[in-house]
Amino acid sequence: MDDSIKVGIAGSGTAGPAVAALLAKAGHEVTLFERTPQKQAVGAGLLMQPTGMAVLERLGILTSLLSQTAKIDHLFCRTTSGTTLLDLPYNELKNGLFGAGTYRPVLLDLLLECAQNAGTKVQWDSEITTLDQKNLIDTHGNKHGPFDLILICDGAKSALRAQTGIPAQVNHYPWGALWFIGKRTPEFAPHTLWQAVEGTNWLNGYLPTGTAQDFLSLFWSIRMREVEEWRSRPLQSWKDHVCRITPQAEPFLQQVESLHQLQTAAYYDVRMKQWHHKNIAILGDAAHALSPQLGQGANLALMDAATLADCLHEYPLEQALSQYSKRRQKHLRFYQFATRWTTPFFQSDSKLLGLTRDFGFPVAMTLPWMRRQMIATMAGVKTGPFCSIPL
Ligand SMILES: Cc1cc2nc3c(=O)[nH]c(=O)nc-3n(C[C@H](O)[C@H](O)[C@H](O)COP(=O)(O)OP(=O)(O)OC[C@H]3O[C@@H](n4cnc5c(N)ncnc54)[C@H](O)[C@@H]3O)c2cc1C
Repeated sequence: MDDSIKVGIAGSGTAGPAVAALLAKAGHEVTLFERTPQKQAVGAGLLMQPTGMAVLERLGILTSLLSQTAKIDHLFCRTTSGTTLLDLPYNELKNGLFGAGTYRPVLLDLLLECAQNAGTKVQWDSEITTLDQKNLIDTHGNKHGPFDLILICDGAKSALRAQTGIPAQVNHYPWGALWFIGKRTPEFAPHTLWQAVEGTNWLNGYLPTGTAQDFLSLFWSIRMREVEEWRSRPLQSWKDHVCRITPQAEPFLQQVESLHQLQTAAYYDVRMKQWHHKNIAILGDAAHALSPQLGQGANLALMDAATLADCLHEYPLEQALSQYSKRRQKHLRFYQFATRWTTPFFQSDSKLLGLTRDFGFPVAMTLPWMRRQMIATMAGVKTGPFCSIPL
């Protein structure tokens, strides 16, 4: 390919291997740098949306993903007093539409294999510390490059974002989540993302994440500053608390033998006005981390990758990067706004928001237009209050 360019990518989570695969398939010379010494996929359950799955289909790996994941046909959420807050089936938006419950190791394996098969060179144990014009420098002092294009995909806690010269505002949420993956027990339906809430302090979710291995991913909301103190409490008192909110969880919880089996996930909020500067573009959580309340982060990262690949196909490099920022604008703005707006209704200290939610959500669910907007938001297709990506 005559117009092939050299691309250096920092970070192999979701955005990194996805954009590597797309660009290598398009004939570019791609090197992916990852700080971990080898493939080390850990992480909570993920809900893939139709938007992210369309990118996986384009990469030719959707069928493999679906053979290992749980088809999710609806989201259900209720209060401990029994009020149904959300009962949102995907197929109300379009017949046959669904989500897919999976977890990071499955997605990462498929993306990496696809990227490597397309010719991407992967360098493990390469933590990039410095952007030096067209080069990347790692912790061992090795200089890699020069690259025509540098892609920053190093996640929410990005150390490279600040070096790009693109202004960014980064906030930590006071709330985060604890998560645990175990065998699904029959009390949880295999195709439902099930959630229960009590006020805005307690949120407990269960996402089925596999068919080959029938797993279930538990989420428990927690204030980040309380995690250490929480771990020192008796295991049974936490289990009792979970069972008060989700009584059917008792058999599933037998798999938890210590509170240390629950992993912590912190949430970040990253705001940027554009996602490119000179020969650099920034993708995924590094560019626009948000709380996982709407289950969109990995899907947005995949859409960043696909958009950037399209722009590079259609325009010369400099113009392609400004088009990338322009094309991602509406979709990202909508989900960042919607996430910031929704999160405090489920994770905050506001009693008033809890009461508003318990009264308002069931009413909104009865209004056909609102229901459709809620399902479209869940499916990842909204680009504004009155517009969506066509399905
Ligand atoms: C509890 C929880 C639940 C979630 N649920 C969902 C969900 O249901 N659906 C959904 O779509 N999203 C969900 N998300 C969000 C999703 O996990 C992220 O949005 C997604 O993983 C972002 O991908 P990324 O590639 O941008 O970053 P990451 O996945 O964080 O990957 C960044 C990679 O860069 C590497 N790295 C970091 N620094 C460097 C460096 N300096 N040099 C080289 N390598 C580096 C890291 O080791 C890592 O491999 C959830 C997140 C959490 C916390």
